[in-house]
Amino acid sequence: MSRRRRVSTCAACDATRVTRERRAPSTLGAALRRILCIAAHPDDLEFTVSGSVARWTSEGRDVTFCLVTTGGAGTNEHTPSSEGLLPIRERESREAARILGVTEVIFLGHQDGVVEPTIALRRDLTRVIRRCRPDVVVCGDPTVRYYGNEYLNHPDHRAVASAALDAVFPSSETRAIFPELLAEGLEPHKVKEVWISGALPPDAWIDIGDTLATKCASLKAHVSQVGKGEWVDGLLRGWAVRDGQQAGVEHAEAFRRMVLWDGK
Ligand SMILES: [Zn+2]
Repeated sequence: MSRRRRVSTCAACDATRVTRERRAPSTLGAALRRILCIAAHPDDLEFTVSGSVARWTSEGRDVTFCLVTTGGAGTNEHTPSSEGLLPIRERESREAARILGVTEVIFLGHQDGVVEPTIALRRDLTRVIRRCRPDVVVCGDPTVRYYGNEYLNHPDHRAVASAALDAVFPSSETRAIFPELLAEGLEPHKVKEVWISGALPPDAWIDIGDTLATKCASLKAHVSQVGKGEWVDGLLRGWAVRDGQQAGVEHAEAFRRMVLWDGK
């Protein structure tokens, strides 16, 4: 029998097979209610995962942002001076979070531009994870040194992503690591899934067709960084179309999905 022979003449079966062969967008499991997004700088999450965040909050999930620095080195043509920048960036971050429906923004206060994946940073992130007790942690990819031919991944991004993954496993779930956190009343916590943004290659996509406009609005809240932000919609739409093409939808954000524990 030829392996190319059709085994079914049923149109519905054929349609199912085609669907299975094509990449499709993912959705978070219904039981995954609490999400913690960890990033180095105030606008990182708005650039990368805010379309997914807006979707998750619209689904009634609880999302917290943890920002390792407050972006004091984020000086550019739109920034009048670095003095006094921290309160501006903190205020912009809170406004962006409000637009996205994010419950809380935690600032760890590390110095922008010189972050390293130290034990101290891992302890700080472990403390946040044990306090928030998220089902899902969202962070960057510490292994990516550059993207394409135009962007060298910021060392703070790599450092924070590395410390975040180490905080998820083994630190958050292991009683013997950071016993000082037990003294603070913070019991071990097991994260169920990690969604890594900017991973090469990605293997999971969130459809952000309904939330791309909210994503753009949240990035425009960072006025000290984007000015009037006329370019924001075009840039973010381009990225969303590129990632959407991989998932068979119009607009998407791409991740690598790690399932550490199914909760059973
Ligand atoms: Zn950044």
